[in-house]
Amino acid sequence: MGTYARQDIVFVRGEGCWLTAETGERYLDFGSGVAVNSLGHAHPQLVAALKAQAEKLWHTSNLYRVEGQETVADKLTRLTFAEQVFFCNSGAEACEGAIKVARRYHYVSGDPNRQRIIAFRGAFHGRTLATLAAAGNEKYLEGFGPTAEGFDHVDLGDLEALEAAIGPETAAIMLEPIQGEGGVRAVSPEFLRAVRELCDKHGLLLVLDEVQTGMGRTGKLFAHEWAGITPDVMAIAKGFGGGFPVGAVLATAKAAKGMTPGTHGSTFGGNPLAMAVASTVLDVISEPGFLEAVQLKTLRLKQGLEGLRDQHAELVEEVRGAGLLMGLKLKAHVAPPQVVKAANEEELLIVGAGDNSVRVLPPLIATEDEIGEGLRALSRALTRVARETSR
Ligand SMILES: *Cc1c(COP(=O)(O)O)cnc(C)c1O
Repeated sequence: MGTYARQDIVFVRGEGCWLTAETGERYLDFGSGVAVNSLGHAHPQLVAALKAQAEKLWHTSNLYRVEGQETVADKLTRLTFAEQVFFCNSGAEACEGAIKVARRYHYVSGDPNRQRIIAFRGAFHGRTLATLAAAGNEKYLEGFGPTAEGFDHVDLGDLEALEAAIGPETAAIMLEPIQGEGGVRAVSPEFLRAVRELCDKHGLLLVLDEVQTGMGRTGKLFAHEWAGITPDVMAIAKGFGGGFPVGAVLATAKAAKGMTPGTHGSTFGGNPLAMAVASTVLDVISEPGFLEAVQLKTLRLKQGLEGLRDQHAELVEEVRGAGLLMGLKLKAHVAPPQVVKAANEEELLIVGAGDNSVRVLPPLIATEDEIGEGLRALSRALTRVARETSR
């Protein structure tokens, strides 16, 4: 179906931060398949894990215990706030699952009327009908019939409006620590802490969507760690499988208490292939020094982008984001596809985003040299755009 406005490039091979097109051209991948290829392409440990599992067992369904799920859940519960994990296949499913966990919690707590969820304008939680309703983006809802009930929306960062929106039917507050698709709009640590406090004060669950910000993307395993808070429920996907489709809903035991046999499920969720890869991704990212190295590279990228903003002040309004989830908000007369296209012409891949911005998302394994190379390519791309826009 014609659902995508695709670039006319076909990639046939990937290695580390590099992708080779069928034409033989090599591109530096600073999009990471939209924050998915966290460990780059063809990471030897991931390839080995998938190959080994492929020869043993692919799928059994969730009618039986799945060893890989127990292993990955063990690692996730050791590394995070979570005590319970549900495995699925995508970010939208993880968000949808998180919404179900939050509503069900109040239902089994004797508060069945508490089912509304407060979310934020500019958010993105996926393309299922409920997650579209959660984000409330009119553009994505148009023409798809009745909008799923039970979501209220406030402006990102507006604490007063948030508290005012809380009512007797509110079950949870749901947000991304950095709005990725929405234009790399970060939530301040103070705001995140204030949201946590509001949840505690009103008996609400805090649901974080770390589908894009998680798995080391910001230099911590999960972005909320920077604020020193923990959520009650969290959706993850994207970088979790390093390119293999897998997602998960993480929760405290308390928040997940309503998720009893039969309340939720997935045929493919957490199948042995996905678990073999996700387990290895977690091992690599949680190796001592890995995230510290990401934090160092982050500095290089941020400084470089700030340099580009100064150099191209007529095109770039501001540098946004954290870690290796960075963005450039463009001036109103510059359109993100122009910059993406100019970058492609410099054999650099970056990704467009909302709020007139572009995202720069190198794989977490990018070297300082590769980051330098990407910055130089982006600088040349901006020079191209400057030439075009002044014509
Ligand atoms: C990409 C994304 C999703 C949706 O993930 P899919 O795997 O495309 O369903 C949800 N939330 C956030 C924050 C995302 O970035």
